[in-house]
Amino acid sequence: MTPADGASRTLSTTCCVVGGGPAGMMLGFLLARAGIDVVVLEKHADFLRDFRGDTIHPSTLNLMQELGLLDALLKRPHNRATQLRVQVGDTSVTVADFSWLPRERAFIALMPQWEFLDFLAGKAKRYPSFHLLMNANVTGLIEERGRVAGVQATTPDGPLEVRARLVVGCDGRHSTVRAKAGLEIEDIGAPIDVLWMRISRLPTDPGTGGRIDAGSFFAVLDRGDYFQLAYVIPKGAAERVMAAGLPAFRQTVAKALPFLAGRVDELKTWDDVKLLSVTIDRLRTWYRPGLLCIGDAAHAMSPVGGVGINLAIQDAVATANLLWKPLKDGTLTEADLARVQKRREFPTRVTQRFQVAAQNGIVQPVLASTAPLRPPWILRLVDRCPLLQRIPARLIGVGVRPEHVHTPEAPRAR
Ligand SMILES: Cc1cc2nc3c(=O)[nH]c(=O)nc-3n(C[C@H](O)[C@H](O)[C@H](O)COP(=O)(O)OP(=O)(O)OC[C@H]3O[C@@H](n4cnc5c(N)ncnc54)[C@H](O)[C@@H]3O)c2cc1C
Repeated sequence: MTPADGASRTLSTTCCVVGGGPAGMMLGFLLARAGIDVVVLEKHADFLRDFRGDTIHPSTLNLMQELGLLDALLKRPHNRATQLRVQVGDTSVTVADFSWLPRERAFIALMPQWEFLDFLAGKAKRYPSFHLLMNANVTGLIEERGRVAGVQATTPDGPLEVRARLVVGCDGRHSTVRAKAGLEIEDIGAPIDVLWMRISRLPTDPGTGGRIDAGSFFAVLDRGDYFQLAYVIPKGAAERVMAAGLPAFRQTVAKALPFLAGRVDELKTWDDVKLLSVTIDRLRTWYRPGLLCIGDAAHAMSPVGGVGINLAIQDAVATANLLWKPLKDGTLTEADLARVQKRREFPTRVTQRFQVAAQNGIVQPVLASTAPLRPPWILRLVDRCPLLQRIPARLIGVGVRPEHVHTPEAPRAR
């Protein structure tokens, strides 16, 4: 990274990554590890923020192992889910079992996202070509001769320009980069929204799983001393839920999760309940000359299956694998960017199709139901046959077309 034109507020780099989420931090880390000069711009001052999903899947654990970082990562605070159990009505069934995967990644690690991002930032800083600028909010693109040549950002020290051979938009589902680039979005739609909240957990409480009953769908994530709860509601129903009042909402939680009945008062105000407006979309074209979008910026995912972080990381690995060499040699073309979309569009489409099928075929009918529910025959069959539990475990934990690290490692400075 070098100041350009002698101006102190203009930087020049090889790759400018916008957004320090899972996709951006992994891409920044891998490119710097390969010796490519990279600037990551993150609008927040730190990685601490509202809950945005804390799941690190077996395929990501595998990547961390390939990078020789798994043992160090798992020293950070986390919980492990080796099975996913769902209670439908009065019957509890196991729907996914990860224990058959290689021992060191036979689970989903539930780790606060900031721990994971902070870990990646710490490892990336060992490479001299890695530069992370926090508090840098990208507001526009610099375009020259028909290609994107950099970004404009605001920082506490004033405006900043970062000029780069390639800009990668990793700035999430409300991406400024994709909006400014005018990339066309295909909105697939989602019939649900999610209310997220946390309530304390006792050692005697059950672990991670789901609780489904007539008109009610909860996902319960065991976070050690607290639960992260997701209450799935029909799209746009949040206003109706809130209008019914907090006491009624507490009762809904207590009825669905009776072991929490004595603790629902921990939801003191509606500020303790966060609305996630669920979106499923994807870009028709993920790139323009000088610019690429990956992760949620290229394809917003539904929370079904909790796979958004994993997909974002897989995108980053594929991007680094395909682009590090042309970036290094200065030969990057639009065809290289098209290769990234070609590689990652298929897993995105398949996963989104699976999410749409689950939303329409399972979640919506549950929310519309009024009679007591029993597990459908397919779940009872999966529960009885441990071998069948490997299929959802594979779909959720490993996903479609898992990536492997093919980038080299440059010398470290620290
Ligand atoms: C409430 C909630 C719960 C979720 N639960 C799960 C789950 O359990 N499991 C799962 O896998 N996924 C979950 N997801 C989805 C998951 O968070 C995303 O799919 C994943 O984080 C996408 O990673 P990303 O790096 O592409 O984008 P993001 O994680 O959205 O990261 C984008 C980054 O860009 C930064 N940024 C945005 N705009 C700018 C700008 N203009 N300039 C500079 N920086 C910018 C943001 O601050 C952020 O750090 C959840 C999402 C939400 C909202």
